[in-house]
Amino acid sequence: MKIFVVNSGSSSLKYQLLDMDSGVVMTTGLVERIGDAMGKVSQKSWPGTEREAEVEREVAFPDHRAAMHTVVELVTGADTGVIASSAEIDAIGHRVVQGGETLFKSTLIDDDVVEKIRENCHLSPLHNPANLVGIEVARELFAGVPQVAVFDTEFHQTMPAEAFMYPIPYELYEELKIRRYGFHGTSHRYVAQQAAAMLGKAEDDVNLVTLHLGNGCSMAAVRGGKCIDTSMGLTPLAGVMMGTRSGDIDPAILPFLMKEKGLSMDEVDSILNKQSGLKGICGMNDMRDIHAAAEKGDKKAALAVDMFVYRIKKYIGAYYAVTGPLDALVFTAGIGENDEIVRARVCANLEHLGISIDPARNAGRKKVATAVQADGSKVAILVIPTNEELAIAKATLSVLK
Ligand code: ADP
Repeated sequence: MKIFVVNSGSSSLKYQLLDMDSGVVMTTGLVERIGDAMGKVSQKSWPGTEREAEVEREVAFPDHRAAMHTVVELVTGADTGVIASSAEIDAIGHRVVQGGETLFKSTLIDDDVVEKIRENCHLSPLHNPANLVGIEVARELFAGVPQVAVFDTEFHQTMPAEAFMYPIPYELYEELKIRRYGFHGTSHRYVAQQAAAMLGKAEDDVNLVTLHLGNGCSMAAVRGGKCIDTSMGLTPLAGVMMGTRSGDIDPAILPFLMKEKGLSMDEVDSILNKQSGLKGICGMNDMRDIHAAAEKGDKKAALAVDMFVYRIKKYIGAYYAVTGPLDALVFTAGIGENDEIVRARVCANLEHLGISIDPARNAGRKKVATAVQADGSKVAILVIPTNEELAIAKATLSVLK
């Protein structure tokens, strides 16, 4: 059974071909800068043990259709690919960011589902339209192959109303469905399941705080294996501090900025999404550059890290209060997996909560799941590389079954 996973973003397209029988990733690739004057595609394939094929091409991709055509060519190419034709693909799994309140379970895609995803574009104007283009092109190019939508929001659907409602007029929820949805759900669920396995516990028997720290950052409170709260909200702008997104701020800052600086709503939106977070404080949004600058004495870089860590710590405290006795903190994604400094600083001085990290175990980037707590730490500290593609492929498979 071969499943092709598509994550179609606004200007990029990530994909993987997985052999579900052996659990092997056959191909992984990324198309970047779709719509720009020049784009790039890079792909790695493992057709078997005997060879690894790597391609990197600078080509212009006017749109997602062109990108997907090239992807199909590369995946099936005699020199570049692992399969002879796209007919070998049994199913396609699509990442979809937002399906609203009614569409969150992984589902077989038909015209009706496409229409519902389209209806929810206003809730996720940056992501849903791009996800839809990926779906539409794939339905065209792989006619007859079953396609499944897997939603970012699914894992968070178990949140109780007290966690997902905002304290604004109830009618706004009824009329516009304004509520907390949460994102990165595929990743939070994947690492929560892996954590349960590492702890030797049943999936529905773990209390966790999961930390997805990448360019976008979110946290989730997991009680009995179910998500009971998460830091992102109606949109992925809320919660902890991120690469370029502010996370939680006083909402009155928006009208204040509009009034004081004469900015439009779109301008304020762009400041909060693209020019805030780490970048807003120190001008950089890659944690590696920020650490390097801080080491050289850049005060704003140091402040950015201090703020990033402080805000995560506060969420740990808040979530600890609602999960009940905590089994583990789980770090994942670009920063969570690779950044020992952030992990160490987030866990520092939390011994009173039973959280104690071991510096030697924590050292270095983690390519495989690793427990990094000190001996005697009541709460485990796990670093678990996320694998959203595998999670999407598994969800796709279970829909087909
Ligand atoms: P995305 O949200 O785009 O999927 P990733 O999960 O790939 O992001 O995370 C990207 C971020 O991870 C980078 O911006 C960078 O800050 C961070 N990162 C990656 N490698 C390292 C590393 N070795 N040390 C510190 N941070 C890292």
